[in-house]
Amino acid sequence: MSDYKDTDLDQNIKKSDIVSQKHLRHFLDIEDLPKSLILDILDLAESFAGVSGQPVKKVPLLRGKTIVNLFFEASTRTRTTFELAAKRLSADFLNINIDYSATKKGETLLDTLRNLEAMHCDMFIVRHPSSGAAKFISKNVSQNISIINAGDGRHAHPTQAMLDIFTIRKYFPDFKKIKVAIVGDILHSRVARSLMHALRILEVPDIRVIGPQTLLPKGIEYMGVTPYVDMDKGIKDCDVVIMLRLQNERMNSSFIPDEHEYYNLYGFSPKRLDLISKKGIVMHPGPVNRGVEISSEVADGNRSVILQQVSNGIAVRMAILSLSMQP
Ligand code: ASP
Repeated sequence: MSDYKDTDLDQNIKKSDIVSQKHLRHFLDIEDLPKSLILDILDLAESFAGVSGQPVKKVPLLRGKTIVNLFFEASTRTRTTFELAAKRLSADFLNINIDYSATKKGETLLDTLRNLEAMHCDMFIVRHPSSGAAKFISKNVSQNISIINAGDGRHAHPTQAMLDIFTIRKYFPDFKKIKVAIVGDILHSRVARSLMHALRILEVPDIRVIGPQTLLPKGIEYMGVTPYVDMDKGIKDCDVVIMLRLQNERMNSSFIPDEHEYYNLYGFSPKRLDLISKKGIVMHPGPVNRGVEISSEVADGNRSVILQQVSNGIAVRMAILSLSMQP
């Protein structure tokens, strides 16, 4: 197994980021969140889920607040569902396009932040290629600004984990009775890391991680999960299988022989559906690489909940934004 080193991994959410049981200041990570708060967020998201189906898809909760998307890395689903969530809560919303911003003219991150602060923004939703970036920003903004981590390096993607467990709960209401497998590039995946924490906090009794040895972090057992290199054994009888993309942008050398071989060993092909539990579901955070980690038949089939994950992302993000903005 490969050596797992991430020097920024002590970026845990601090107790001070949780202002009270039902009020967050920042949402940076999931690993130290109390189970009760996670369940409260899911319940609140449930109450927001109906808003998207109404003729007027808005509630006035964040009227007068200004929220800024600050994405230093590519994103489709996360960026747009945060924008929709903010707009459905009636907040004013800005998308900063980093490619056309002063960052490209050499302005430092801190200077960009200070300028945005001077415009009286209330919240920054941050995606950044460096682990720990959201935490760093949270330490360098004034007291009244909330920071939401929309994915930092390979460290964490806490809102993705929240929407994933929201989706799982729709099919399996009792977390204490399910078997969950996460398959693929565990080593470079912030989604896997946040999910492992969320599932552990929710007391899921059987959490498996499956992938080639090169993509399984050394010592991963200490996160309370069971590693498998054999996919067929790993997904056997699982209720939930979460497929991950190979995070090529974070690989500095070759971790797999070739994509064809990878698909044979770790791709979710239709015949593998027979191995999971009868009511088992297949998930993927996107973007999906068809024919690499999952076949089109499975991705588009009736066991796939991939597009439901996307829709659920709006309600879950509405819940997180509103809890972080309470007076
Ligand atoms: N969209 C997810 C992320 O930003 C997963 C991926 O990119 O594969 O981490």
